[in-house]
Amino acid sequence: MTDTVDDVDLPYEDGASQQEKVEALEERLEILEQQNEEMRDKLLDANAENNKYQQKLERLTHENKKLKQSPLFVATVQEITDEGVIIKQHGNNQEALTEVTDEMREELTPDSRVAVNNSLSVVKKLDSETDVRARVMQVEQSPDVAYEDIGGIDEQMEEVRETVEMPIESPEMFDEVGIDPPSGVLLHGPPGTGKTMLAKAVANQTDATFIKMAGSELVHKFIGEGAKLVRDLFELARQEEPAVVFIDEIDAIAAKRTDSKTSGDAEVQRTMMQLLSEMDGFEDRGQISIIAATNRFDMLDRAILRPGRFDRLIEVPKPDAEGRELIFQIHTRDMNIADEVDFAELAEETQEASGADVKAITTEAGMFAIRDDRKEVWMQDFLDAWDKIKQTEEESDEVSKTFA
Ligand code: ATP
Repeated sequence: MTDTVDDVDLPYEDGASQQEKVEALEERLEILEQQNEEMRDKLLDANAENNKYQQKLERLTHENKKLKQSPLFVATVQEITDEGVIIKQHGNNQEALTEVTDEMREELTPDSRVAVNNSLSVVKKLDSETDVRARVMQVEQSPDVAYEDIGGIDEQMEEVRETVEMPIESPEMFDEVGIDPPSGVLLHGPPGTGKTMLAKAVANQTDATFIKMAGSELVHKFIGEGAKLVRDLFELARQEEPAVVFIDEIDAIAAKRTDSKTSGDAEVQRTMMQLLSEMDGFEDRGQISIIAATNRFDMLDRAILRPGRFDRLIEVPKPDAEGRELIFQIHTRDMNIADEVDFAELAEETQEASGADVKAITTEAGMFAIRDDRKEVWMQDFLDAWDKIKQTEEESDEVSKTFA
Protein backbone atom coordinates (compact mmCIF):
# COMPACT_ATOMS: atom_id res chain seq x y z
CA MET A 1 0.00 0.00 0.00
CA THR A 2 2.56 2.57 -1.06
CA ASP A 3 0.31 4.43 -3.48
CA THR A 4 0.12 8.15 -2.94
CA VAL A 5 -2.23 10.43 -4.77
CA ASP A 6 0.56 11.32 -7.22
CA ASP A 7 1.26 7.67 -8.07
CA VAL A 8 -2.29 6.81 -9.00
CA ASP A 9 -2.71 5.61 -12.59
CA LEU A 10 -5.45 7.59 -14.18
CA PRO A 11 -8.06 5.20 -15.55
CA TYR A 12 -8.36 6.91 -18.92
CA GLU A 13 -6.23 7.78 -21.95
CA ASP A 14 -4.92 11.30 -22.38
CA GLY A 15 -7.16 11.95 -25.33
CA ALA A 16 -10.39 10.80 -23.64
CA SER A 17 -13.39 13.10 -23.66
CA GLN A 18 -14.60 14.82 -20.49
CA GLN A 19 -17.58 12.44 -20.34
CA GLU A 20 -15.33 9.35 -20.67
CA LYS A 21 -13.02 10.67 -17.97
CA VAL A 22 -15.90 11.19 -15.53
CA GLU A 23 -17.30 7.72 -16.20
CA ALA A 24 -13.92 6.03 -15.85
CA LEU A 25 -13.22 7.90 -12.63
CA GLU A 26 -16.63 7.01 -11.20
CA GLU A 27 -16.08 3.38 -12.04
CA ARG A 28 -12.67 3.42 -10.38
CA LEU A 29 -14.12 5.20 -7.35
CA GLU A 30 -16.76 2.52 -6.94
CA ILE A 31 -14.17 -0.23 -7.07
CA LEU A 32 -11.99 1.53 -4.55
CA GLU A 33 -14.91 2.08 -2.19
CA GLN A 34 -15.76 -1.59 -2.39
CA GLN A 35 -12.14 -2.56 -1.72
CA ASN A 36 -12.04 -0.12 1.15
CA GLU A 37 -15.15 -1.71 2.63
CA GLU A 38 -13.65 -5.19 2.34
CA MET A 39 -10.41 -4.07 3.93
CA ARG A 40 -12.32 -2.48 6.79
CA ASP A 41 -14.19 -5.74 7.43
CA LYS A 42 -10.94 -7.66 7.41
CA LEU A 43 -9.41 -5.15 9.78
CA LEU A 44 -12.33 -5.53 12.18
CA ASP A 45 -12.05 -9.31 12.07
CA ALA A 46 -8.32 -9.15 12.62
CA ASN A 47 -8.81 -6.78 15.54
CA ALA A 48 -11.34 -9.08 17.13
CA GLU A 49 -9.02 -12.04 16.64
CA ASN A 50 -6.13 -10.03 18.01
CA ASN A 51 -8.15 -9.10 21.09
CA LYS A 52 -9.00 -12.74 21.67
CA TYR A 53 -5.34 -13.78 21.55
CA GLN A 54 -4.33 -10.80 23.64
CA GLN A 55 -6.73 -11.90 26.36
CA LYS A 56 -5.48 -15.48 26.20
CA LEU A 57 -1.93 -14.24 26.38
CA GLU A 58 -2.66 -12.11 29.42
CA ARG A 59 -4.39 -14.98 31.15
CA LEU A 60 -1.53 -17.36 30.49
CA THR A 61 1.13 -14.83 31.41
CA HIS A 62 -0.67 -14.25 34.67
CA GLU A 63 -0.96 -17.98 35.28
CA ASN A 64 2.71 -18.44 34.41
CA LYS A 65 3.73 -15.71 36.82
CA LYS A 66 1.65 -17.26 39.54
CA LEU A 67 3.27 -20.65 39.01
CA LYS A 68 6.75 -19.20 39.05
CA GLN A 69 6.22 -17.37 42.32
CA SER A 70 7.81 -19.16 45.19
CA PRO A 71 5.33 -20.65 47.64
CA LEU A 72 4.25 -18.78 50.72
CA PHE A 73 4.25 -20.27 54.20
CA VAL A 74 1.55 -19.81 56.78
CA ALA A 75 2.44 -18.44 60.19
CA THR A 76 0.67 -16.98 63.20
CA VAL A 77 1.64 -13.72 64.84
CA GLN A 78 2.76 -14.38 68.42
CA GLU A 79 3.71 -10.94 69.59
CA ILE A 80 4.15 -7.45 68.21
CA THR A 81 7.26 -5.83 69.70
CA ASP A 82 9.20 -2.63 69.07
CA GLU A 83 11.89 -4.63 67.26
CA GLY A 84 9.45 -6.30 64.92
CA VAL A 85 6.82 -9.01 64.86
CA ILE A 86 7.37 -12.49 66.28
CA ILE A 87 5.77 -15.13 64.11
CA LYS A 88 5.47 -18.88 64.45
CA GLN A 89 5.48 -20.93 61.26
CA HIS A 90 2.88 -23.65 60.86
CA GLY A 91 4.25 -27.05 59.98
CA ASN A 92 7.62 -26.71 61.73
CA ASN A 93 6.59 -24.50 64.67
CA GLN A 94 9.71 -22.36 64.35
CA GLU A 95 9.54 -18.87 65.75
CA ALA A 96 11.14 -15.91 64.04
CA LEU A 97 11.38 -12.19 64.45
CA THR A 98 10.61 -10.26 61.32
CA GLU A 99 10.26 -6.61 60.41
CA VAL A 100 7.07 -5.29 58.92
CA THR A 101 6.00 -2.02 57.31
CA ASP A 102 4.05 0.47 59.42
CA GLU A 103 0.90 -0.21 57.37
CA MET A 104 1.19 -3.94 57.93
CA ARG A 105 1.85 -3.44 61.65
CA GLU A 106 -1.46 -1.55 61.90
CA GLU A 107 -3.33 -4.51 60.43
CA LEU A 108 -1.80 -7.20 62.62
CA THR A 109 -2.80 -8.36 66.07
CA PRO A 110 -1.46 -11.30 68.10
CA ASP A 111 -3.02 -14.45 66.64
CA SER A 112 -3.40 -13.00 63.12
CA ARG A 113 -2.69 -15.57 60.42
CA VAL A 114 -0.17 -14.34 57.91
CA ALA A 115 1.58 -15.57 54.77
CA VAL A 116 5.37 -15.26 54.84
CA ASN A 117 7.89 -15.76 52.04
CA ASN A 118 11.17 -17.67 52.05
CA SER A 119 12.95 -14.92 53.95
CA LEU A 120 10.11 -14.86 56.46
CA SER A 121 8.86 -11.40 55.53
CA VAL A 122 5.15 -11.01 56.03
CA VAL A 123 3.59 -10.79 52.57
CA LYS A 124 -0.03 -10.50 53.58
CA LYS A 125 -2.53 -11.03 56.32
CA LEU A 126 -4.76 -14.04 55.74
CA ASP A 127 -8.45 -14.56 56.27
CA SER A 128 -9.49 -16.33 59.41
CA GLU A 129 -9.31 -20.11 59.43
CA THR A 130 -13.01 -20.66 58.95
CA ASP A 131 -12.82 -18.67 55.71
CA VAL A 132 -10.04 -20.90 54.41
CA ARG A 133 -12.09 -23.97 55.25
CA ALA A 134 -15.11 -22.55 53.50
CA ARG A 135 -12.99 -21.92 50.44
CA VAL A 136 -11.44 -25.34 50.12
CA MET A 137 -14.36 -27.41 51.31
CA GLN A 138 -17.62 -27.44 49.50
CA VAL A 139 -20.44 -28.71 51.69
CA GLU A 140 -23.86 -29.65 50.28
CA GLN A 141 -26.70 -31.33 52.11
CA SER A 142 -28.02 -34.08 49.80
CA PRO A 143 -26.81 -32.58 46.51
CA ASP A 144 -29.13 -32.19 43.60
CA VAL A 145 -27.90 -35.07 41.39
CA ALA A 146 -29.82 -38.32 40.92
CA TYR A 147 -28.71 -41.61 39.37
CA GLU A 148 -31.05 -40.93 36.42
CA ASP A 149 -28.97 -37.86 35.60
CA ILE A 150 -25.92 -39.98 34.86
CA GLY A 151 -25.61 -41.82 31.57
CA GLY A 152 -23.38 -44.48 30.09
CA ILE A 153 -21.56 -45.67 33.21
CA ASP A 154 -24.05 -48.12 34.70
CA GLU A 155 -21.49 -50.69 35.76
CA GLN A 156 -19.41 -48.12 37.58
CA MET A 157 -22.53 -46.75 39.20
CA GLU A 158 -23.53 -50.18 40.45
CA GLU A 159 -20.12 -50.74 41.95
CA VAL A 160 -20.08 -47.35 43.68
CA ARG A 161 -23.57 -47.92 45.04
CA GLU A 162 -22.69 -51.32 46.39
CA THR A 163 -19.56 -50.03 48.10
CA VAL A 164 -20.82 -46.75 49.44
CA GLU A 165 -24.55 -47.04 49.99
CA MET A 166 -24.57 -50.19 52.09
CA PRO A 167 -22.17 -49.05 54.80
CA ILE A 168 -24.08 -45.79 55.14
CA GLU A 169 -27.56 -47.24 55.03
CA SER A 170 -27.04 -50.45 56.97
CA PRO A 171 -23.78 -50.23 58.97
CA GLU A 172 -25.13 -52.84 61.41
CA MET A 173 -24.97 -55.52 58.72
CA PHE A 174 -21.20 -55.26 58.67
CA ASP A 175 -21.09 -55.46 62.47
CA GLU A 176 -23.29 -58.52 62.47
CA VAL A 177 -21.22 -60.32 59.88
CA GLY A 178 -18.07 -59.15 61.60
CA ILE A 179 -16.24 -57.48 58.72
CA ASP A 180 -15.06 -53.92 58.19
CA PRO A 181 -17.03 -52.07 55.56
CA PRO A 182 -15.10 -51.20 52.40
CA SER A 183 -13.03 -48.17 53.23
CA GLY A 184 -12.84 -46.01 50.20
CA VAL A 185 -13.55 -45.86 46.50
CA LEU A 186 -11.12 -44.40 44.04
CA LEU A 187 -12.60 -43.26 40.73
CA HIS A 188 -10.14 -42.75 37.94
CA GLY A 189 -10.51 -41.71 34.32
CA PRO A 190 -10.40 -38.75 31.95
CA PRO A 191 -11.85 -35.36 32.89
CA GLY A 192 -15.56 -34.72 32.57
CA THR A 193 -16.76 -38.33 32.70
CA GLY A 194 -19.08 -38.02 35.69
CA LYS A 195 -16.88 -38.87 38.67
CA THR A 196 -18.07 -35.93 40.73
CA MET A 197 -21.65 -36.62 39.67
CA LEU A 198 -21.39 -40.21 40.91
CA ALA A 199 -20.19 -39.08 44.33
CA LYS A 200 -22.94 -36.48 44.55
CA ALA A 201 -25.63 -38.95 43.48
CA VAL A 202 -24.62 -41.43 46.19
CA ALA A 203 -24.75 -38.65 48.78
CA ASN A 204 -28.18 -37.69 47.52
CA GLN A 205 -29.48 -41.25 47.57
CA THR A 206 -28.27 -41.84 51.13
CA ASP A 207 -29.34 -38.40 52.40
CA ALA A 208 -25.75 -37.80 53.32
CA THR A 209 -23.88 -34.53 53.47
CA PHE A 210 -21.54 -34.17 50.53
CA ILE A 211 -18.19 -32.67 51.49
CA LYS A 212 -15.84 -31.97 48.63
CA MET A 213 -12.24 -30.93 48.83
CA ALA A 214 -9.84 -30.57 45.91
CA GLY A 215 -6.34 -31.96 46.37
CA SER A 216 -4.76 -29.08 44.46
CA GLU A 217 -6.44 -26.52 46.71
CA LEU A 218 -5.05 -28.33 49.71
CA VAL A 219 -1.42 -28.13 48.82
CA HIS A 220 -0.98 -25.30 46.37
CA LYS A 221 -2.41 -22.47 48.36
CA PHE A 222 -0.41 -22.07 51.53
CA ILE A 223 2.26 -24.31 52.84
CA GLY A 224 1.70 -25.61 56.34
CA GLU A 225 -2.08 -25.91 56.05
CA GLY A 226 -2.59 -29.15 54.12
CA ALA A 227 -2.35 -31.66 56.96
CA LYS A 228 -4.50 -29.53 59.19
CA LEU A 229 -7.14 -29.15 56.50
CA VAL A 230 -7.27 -32.92 56.09
CA ARG A 231 -7.85 -33.25 59.84
CA ASP A 232 -10.54 -30.59 59.66
CA LEU A 233 -12.15 -32.36 56.75
CA PHE A 234 -12.60 -35.59 58.69
CA GLU A 235 -13.64 -33.70 61.80
CA LEU A 236 -16.36 -32.01 59.78
CA ALA A 237 -17.45 -35.36 58.30
CA ARG A 238 -17.82 -36.79 61.83
CA GLN A 239 -20.00 -33.86 62.81
CA GLU A 240 -22.12 -34.15 59.69
CA GLU A 241 -22.50 -37.95 59.65
CA PRO A 242 -23.85 -39.53 57.44
CA ALA A 243 -21.41 -37.98 55.03
CA VAL A 244 -19.72 -38.64 51.71
CA VAL A 245 -16.23 -37.15 51.67
CA PHE A 246 -15.18 -36.50 48.09
CA ILE A 247 -11.49 -35.77 47.49
CA ASP A 248 -11.07 -34.56 43.93
CA GLU A 249 -7.65 -34.49 42.18
CA ILE A 250 -6.19 -36.78 44.81
CA ASP A 251 -3.03 -37.04 42.68
CA ALA A 252 -2.11 -33.57 43.95
CA ILE A 253 -1.57 -34.99 47.44
CA ALA A 254 -0.82 -38.61 46.64
CA ALA A 255 1.62 -38.46 43.77
CA LYS A 256 4.61 -40.80 43.61
CA ARG A 257 7.51 -39.54 45.64
CA THR A 258 10.08 -37.62 43.68
CA ASP A 259 13.73 -37.17 44.59
CA SER A 260 13.52 -33.44 44.92
CA LYS A 261 13.48 -32.19 48.46
CA THR A 262 11.75 -28.87 48.10
CA SER A 263 9.54 -27.63 50.89
CA GLY A 264 6.57 -28.02 48.54
CA ASP A 265 7.21 -31.77 48.31
CA ALA A 266 7.59 -32.11 52.05
CA GLU A 267 4.28 -30.38 52.45
CA VAL A 268 2.58 -32.73 49.99
CA GLN A 269 4.06 -35.69 51.87
CA ARG A 270 2.78 -34.40 55.20
CA THR A 271 -0.66 -33.87 53.76
CA MET A 272 -0.72 -37.38 52.30
CA MET A 273 0.49 -38.96 55.56
CA GLN A 274 -2.30 -37.19 57.36
CA LEU A 275 -4.82 -38.50 54.86
CA LEU A 276 -3.49 -42.05 55.20
CA SER A 277 -3.58 -41.90 58.95
CA GLU A 278 -7.14 -40.56 58.92
CA MET A 279 -8.15 -43.42 56.65
CA ASP A 280 -6.30 -46.07 58.66
CA GLY A 281 -7.62 -44.82 61.96
CA PHE A 282 -11.08 -44.91 60.64
CA GLU A 283 -12.09 -48.35 61.79
CA ASP A 284 -15.00 -47.07 63.74
CA ARG A 285 -15.94 -44.90 60.87
CA GLY A 286 -19.68 -45.00 61.22
CA GLN A 287 -21.64 -43.57 58.38
CA ILE A 288 -18.86 -41.86 56.50
CA SER A 289 -17.71 -42.87 53.05
CA ILE A 290 -14.67 -41.66 51.23
CA ILE A 291 -14.64 -41.28 47.48
CA ALA A 292 -11.57 -39.93 45.74
CA ALA A 293 -11.08 -39.08 42.08
CA THR A 294 -8.15 -38.59 39.76
CA ASN A 295 -7.40 -38.06 36.08
CA ARG A 296 -3.82 -39.22 36.67
CA PHE A 297 -4.02 -42.75 38.02
CA ASP A 298 -0.51 -43.48 36.71
CA MET A 299 0.93 -40.84 39.04
CA LEU A 300 -0.48 -42.18 42.29
CA ASP A 301 1.73 -43.33 45.11
CA ARG A 302 1.14 -47.04 45.66
CA ALA A 303 0.81 -46.40 49.40
CA ILE A 304 -2.60 -44.95 48.84
CA LEU A 305 -3.73 -48.10 47.04
CA ARG A 306 -2.84 -50.54 49.82
CA PRO A 307 -5.69 -52.72 51.05
CA GLY A 308 -7.74 -51.07 53.71
CA ARG A 309 -7.37 -47.70 52.10
CA PHE A 310 -8.95 -47.32 48.70
CA ASP A 311 -9.89 -50.91 48.19
CA ARG A 312 -12.18 -50.34 45.24
CA LEU A 313 -10.55 -48.85 42.19
CA ILE A 314 -13.15 -48.00 39.59
CA GLU A 315 -12.27 -46.79 36.14
CA VAL A 316 -14.72 -44.26 34.72
CA PRO A 317 -13.98 -44.08 30.99
CA LYS A 318 -15.27 -41.75 28.31
CA PRO A 319 -18.72 -42.88 27.16
CA ASP A 320 -19.16 -45.07 24.07
CA ALA A 321 -21.70 -44.18 21.36
CA GLU A 322 -24.57 -45.71 23.32
CA GLY A 323 -23.50 -43.81 26.42
CA ARG A 324 -23.25 -40.55 24.51
CA GLU A 325 -26.74 -41.05 23.13
CA LEU A 326 -28.08 -41.49 26.66
CA ILE A 327 -26.21 -38.43 27.90
CA PHE A 328 -27.65 -36.39 25.00
CA GLN A 329 -31.11 -37.51 26.04
CA ILE A 330 -30.46 -36.62 29.67
CA HIS A 331 -29.22 -33.12 28.96
CA THR A 332 -31.94 -32.28 26.44
CA ARG A 333 -34.83 -33.37 28.67
CA ASP A 334 -35.94 -29.80 29.21
CA MET A 335 -35.02 -28.50 25.77
CA ASN A 336 -37.35 -27.78 22.90
CA ILE A 337 -35.94 -30.16 20.29
CA ALA A 338 -37.08 -30.52 16.64
CA ASP A 339 -38.41 -33.99 15.71
CA GLU A 340 -35.65 -34.39 13.11
CA VAL A 341 -32.93 -34.44 15.80
CA ASP A 342 -31.39 -37.90 15.84
CA PHE A 343 -29.41 -38.61 19.02
CA ALA A 344 -28.05 -41.91 17.75
CA GLU A 345 -26.52 -40.10 14.78
CA LEU A 346 -25.23 -37.33 17.03
CA ALA A 347 -23.62 -39.93 19.25
CA GLU A 348 -21.85 -41.34 16.17
CA GLU A 349 -20.71 -37.88 15.09
CA THR A 350 -19.27 -36.99 18.47
CA GLN A 351 -16.56 -39.64 18.83
CA GLU A 352 -14.15 -38.78 21.64
CA ALA A 353 -16.64 -36.50 23.39
CA SER A 354 -16.78 -36.84 27.18
CA GLY A 355 -19.99 -36.48 29.19
CA ALA A 356 -19.00 -32.90 29.95
CA ASP A 357 -18.49 -32.27 26.20
CA VAL A 358 -21.96 -33.63 25.45
CA LYS A 359 -23.42 -31.31 28.08
CA ALA A 360 -21.51 -28.40 26.51
CA ILE A 361 -22.79 -29.34 23.03
CA THR A 362 -26.42 -29.24 24.18
CA THR A 363 -25.99 -25.80 25.75
CA GLU A 364 -24.14 -24.44 22.74
CA ALA A 365 -26.77 -25.86 20.35
CA GLY A 366 -29.41 -23.99 22.35
CA MET A 367 -27.35 -20.83 21.97
CA PHE A 368 -27.23 -21.29 18.19
CA ALA A 369 -31.04 -21.48 18.13
CA ILE A 370 -31.35 -18.36 20.27
CA ARG A 371 -28.92 -16.41 18.07
CA ASP A 372 -31.03 -17.43 15.08
CA ASP A 373 -34.15 -16.21 16.87
CA ARG A 374 -35.67 -19.70 17.06
CA LYS A 375 -37.38 -21.45 19.95
CA GLU A 376 -36.63 -24.92 18.61
CA VAL A 377 -33.22 -26.56 18.40
CA TRP A 378 -32.31 -28.31 15.13
CA MET A 379 -29.95 -31.14 14.27
CA GLN A 380 -27.64 -28.68 12.52
CA ASP A 381 -27.33 -26.64 15.76
CA PHE A 382 -25.93 -29.69 17.55
CA LEU A 383 -23.49 -30.39 14.72
CA ASP A 384 -22.34 -26.75 14.61
CA ALA A 385 -22.00 -26.79 18.40
CA TRP A 386 -19.72 -29.85 18.27
CA ASP A 387 -17.56 -28.19 15.58
CA LYS A 388 -17.25 -25.11 17.73
CA ILE A 389 -16.38 -27.05 20.87
CA LYS A 390 -13.80 -29.16 19.04
CA GLN A 391 -12.25 -26.01 17.64
CA THR A 392 -12.10 -24.31 21.04
CA GLU A 393 -10.47 -27.41 22.53
CA GLU A 394 -7.92 -27.54 19.71
CA GLU A 395 -7.14 -23.85 20.15
CA SER A 396 -6.61 -24.17 23.86
CA ASP A 397 -4.41 -27.23 23.27
CA GLU A 398 -2.33 -25.16 20.82
CA VAL A 399 -2.03 -22.29 23.28
CA SER A 400 -1.01 -24.60 26.11
CA LYS A 401 1.59 -26.23 23.85
CA THR A 402 2.96 -22.80 22.92
CA PHE A 403 3.31 -21.85 26.56
CA ALA A 404 4.40 -25.23 27.83
P1 ATP B 1 -13.09 -33.89 36.44
O1 ATP B 1 -12.17 -35.04 36.44
O2 ATP B 1 -12.72 -32.83 35.42
O3 ATP B 1 -13.38 -33.32 37.81
P2 ATP B 1 -15.54 -35.41 36.47
O4 ATP B 1 -15.30 -36.76 35.92
O5 ATP B 1 -15.65 -35.26 37.94
O6 ATP B 1 -14.49 -34.41 35.86
P3 ATP B 1 -18.13 -34.25 36.39
O7 ATP B 1 -17.76 -33.01 37.15
O8 ATP B 1 -18.90 -35.27 37.12
O9 ATP B 1 -16.85 -34.88 35.75
O10 ATP B 1 -18.90 -33.84 35.06
C1 ATP B 1 -18.99 -32.51 34.60
C2 ATP B 1 -20.33 -32.27 33.94
O11 ATP B 1 -20.40 -33.04 32.73
C3 ATP B 1 -21.49 -32.75 34.77
O12 ATP B 1 -22.00 -31.72 35.59
C4 ATP B 1 -22.51 -33.18 33.72
O13 ATP B 1 -23.25 -32.07 33.27
C5 ATP B 1 -21.65 -33.66 32.57
N1 ATP B 1 -21.42 -35.14 32.59
C6 ATP B 1 -20.21 -35.75 32.69
N2 ATP B 1 -20.35 -37.09 32.65
C7 ATP B 1 -21.67 -37.34 32.54
C8 ATP B 1 -22.44 -38.54 32.46
N3 ATP B 1 -21.86 -39.75 32.47
N4 ATP B 1 -23.78 -38.42 32.36
C9 ATP B 1 -24.38 -37.20 32.33
N5 ATP B 1 -23.70 -36.04 32.39
C10 ATP B 1 -22.36 -36.09 32.49
